[in-house]
Amino acid sequence: MMQLPVVADPEADNDWLLYTLDVLAPLTGLAVRFSLVAPGELSGSGPALWYGVVPEDPGDEVILIPRRPEFRPGKMQQVEMACGSEDLDAILIYTDTIDPDAGSEEISFDLFYNVFAYVSCLEEYEQECRLGPLHSYALRTGGNTDRFDRPYATLLARGVAATITRKLTTPPSPVDAQPALHLTHDVDLIAKKGVTRLKEGVFRTANVVRSLFQARFGDAATGLRDAMRMIFGRADYLFIDEMAEMEKQYGFRSAYNLFSGVRPSGSAAARLRHYLFDPPYDPSTHPVLPGILQRRAVEGWEVGVHFAFDVWRDAERMRRELQAVERVLDCRHTVTTCRQHWLRFSLAETWRAHHAAGIEVDTTLGFNDRPGFRAGVVSPFRPYDHAAGRAHPLWVVPTILMDTHLFHYGNLTEQSAREAVIDRLLDEVVHCRGEAAVIWHTHVFSTDHQWQHEYRYILERMMALGMASRLPSGVILKERSDD
Ligand SMILES: [Zn+2]
Repeated sequence: MMQLPVVADPEADNDWLLYTLDVLAPLTGLAVRFSLVAPGELSGSGPALWYGVVPEDPGDEVILIPRRPEFRPGKMQQVEMACGSEDLDAILIYTDTIDPDAGSEEISFDLFYNVFAYVSCLEEYEQECRLGPLHSYALRTGGNTDRFDRPYATLLARGVAATITRKLTTPPSPVDAQPALHLTHDVDLIAKKGVTRLKEGVFRTANVVRSLFQARFGDAATGLRDAMRMIFGRADYLFIDEMAEMEKQYGFRSAYNLFSGVRPSGSAAARLRHYLFDPPYDPSTHPVLPGILQRRAVEGWEVGVHFAFDVWRDAERMRRELQAVERVLDCRHTVTTCRQHWLRFSLAETWRAHHAAGIEVDTTLGFNDRPGFRAGVVSPFRPYDHAAGRAHPLWVVPTILMDTHLFHYGNLTEQSAREAVIDRLLDEVVHCRGEAAVIWHTHVFSTDHQWQHEYRYILERMMALGMASRLPSGVILKERSDD
């Protein structure tokens, strides 16, 4: 592992910079670590990144990066950068970070601060401080939402890697990482209940109305038929084994996030929210669900916890739910991974609570209403604790796609349009040699949904693209083996 110095003013606010350099190094795809040094500590003009300071005698192996850690929400523009592929990538960065005096051959903007702003979800965090948590709706974010279209932080890391490789006489060697997906399933429904008919009926009727407004009358008629079947028809909703068997055909495994069944004891409003929004099942009393999951756990599938709608900042309730899920598994499986139900999530509070409750890997970081890259990263990483000025002591696997993105929110009525979204996202993971999660709910192989074709399409594309399937808990195992 090559140590590459980053020279910066030791008097400046460097908490965020230290964090950024730690996150950035593995994203470069090079066997490199960055160490922060003061200008006086560096002898000679050897290979180094000079950040906001300029050496007296810049040698050929010096890379200059302007220091302009400023941004205005939404004020972004594209710059072209060589990120390792044949073509230049167009990277969306904050306009205020551009140094008008930088030479055209050099990195002309504050690359580190842009990486930090992406990875730490800085714009979202500032918005949350003003208005409260977004609970994972991209529509509620301010600014330029194009920033979620591509993994820009990872691309910036690839850009700095390309510069390092070009400039250094003996550059660090590339790390050959196999791109991978974490196939994950949130167990929201295992039987069709009255509340299911109501909620899904509303979603589908809304899409019928949308189709009518767009004068897509054929789609509206199909949508209406589906909505009626959803509201009035009968259907089986338990497909955990069918999904696992499909994955097995490709040599893949996946992770299930199980609701604990723990009921809230609070107010009538809390009980109503539980009725309306929590998964309507209790695994501990279900006749077959514990057995199915125990068998899968023994065979190497993973079970994580799917925290209740209201449980997104309360570590004590999280711990109770986590232990309830472990009891369902008959203690054959330690639960260390999770996803928030409905992606209910606060940047300031949820990860703190997760860590206090014993969670080591969270896969919540994604959006309810669109696919994409919420933190601009397409790899597991340690998220930033803005209040403490350092990394949270847990891992995040970003989620880039959920089944409902294609069917409900996107209202993509053509199979080819849904496949195109899958293609675009998987190509991005491969392009960055990255790793990210997708969500396919366990009930959507039902006759009400019939979303199995797209799931199989993902598995087939993974095979064709040489992607691995990984499990969230594997991030911890990998960290231990790297140490
Ligand atoms: Zn859920």
